[in-house]
Amino acid sequence: MISKKMENMVANSSAIRAMFEEGNRLAQQYGAENVYDFSLGNPNVPAPESVKKAIMDVLDEEDPVVLHGYTNSNAGYEDVRNAVAQSLNERFGTAFSAHNITMTVGAAGGLNVILKSLLNPGDEVVVFAPYFGEYRSYTDNYDGVLVEISPDTETFQPKLDEFEAKITPRTKAVIVNTPNNPTGVVYSEETIRKMAAVMEAKQKEYGTDIYLISDEPYRELAYDGVDVPYLTKYYANTVVGYSYSKSLSLPGERIGYLVIPDEAADSENLIAAANVATRILGFVNAPTLQQKVVKACLNEKTDISFYNRNRETLYNGLKELGFECIKPEGAFYLFVKSPVADEKAFCAAAKKYNILIVPGSSFGCPGYVRIAYCVSYETIVNSLPKFGQLAEEYK
Ligand code: PLP
Repeated sequence: MISKKMENMVANSSAIRAMFEEGNRLAQQYGAENVYDFSLGNPNVPAPESVKKAIMDVLDEEDPVVLHGYTNSNAGYEDVRNAVAQSLNERFGTAFSAHNITMTVGAAGGLNVILKSLLNPGDEVVVFAPYFGEYRSYTDNYDGVLVEISPDTETFQPKLDEFEAKITPRTKAVIVNTPNNPTGVVYSEETIRKMAAVMEAKQKEYGTDIYLISDEPYRELAYDGVDVPYLTKYYANTVVGYSYSKSLSLPGERIGYLVIPDEAADSENLIAAANVATRILGFVNAPTLQQKVVKACLNEKTDISFYNRNRETLYNGLKELGFECIKPEGAFYLFVKSPVADEKAFCAAAKKYNILIVPGSSFGCPGYVRIAYCVSYETIVNSLPKFGQLAEEYK
């Protein structure tokens, strides 16, 4: 008999699984080219050529016993962590060292490590809707309580009045994700400054430590030169979770890192806890080969012109058809207002045209749908007439 918690998790994840299976079924029935599957955030741009070269070089040059072994520290190779720290210092004017970096099994691994390290049962984790739905599961993994701030559907920037009102003495962490999944919005510097001021004041008022967890797998996917503020500079108690899943198109390789700055509250203990959490959560250490590979590719980036073309074409195409959405500044998602309040009904209607999109309620924001445009350009272009037929149903 499986645990009660997992019974609920299995029941809740069936919708996503059902969509995945539906995509496969439709592809078999109509041919993959006639199915417009916008449901998954799986990058469609191949990893840069330099990643392949780095893999080959590392395999040729490193001692295989070391390369395929456990790392000598659960935090990861010292030289890799040092290179990551130096690269961040050059880019953001920070002063990190290898000590502040823990290599992780992607952003998901990093978030679990930090939440495991921070949460006592009943501690509250604040998130801003719409948010990446897995935050709910990750928080629940450590018996934390997720506290949602309702969405500002005009701008999709965090609602700071509600934020201030919902911080309590039990608030242990706040998770932000910018550029954001599912809206593509980049939180402005003004928003970040105000958010930091609220958190500083609340820490003082309650005499507690409130950690800001910056979940940034989409940091490098920002368009039109928009600035994505580096949050440790605005709020001392910040932990950054980074991932190469999207920036180098390596989601299957499971590699990222956490930054725990010296300025964070109780940082020595937190770093020690994160390194133990990495071990006992079952990761032991981040994949050794991939640690070496990302060290060699720290200055590489995915080709965002590909996503940008998709973004422009889909955004303009959907606006012309009368759909409402704000133009994303980053990531590879469009968050579109459903023409009917019940967005699940809208997703079901879209499926008739072989269009697969995800209901906003999966992100704590009903009435909207997420379209992941990390697909081929042909899929975008060919889907637009189908979106046109879908729009006709609501005229
Ligand atoms: N956080 C956000 C906001 C995401 O969108 C994703 C993946 O889509 C993750 C974390 C997990 O990323 P990773 O593959 O690095 O574990």
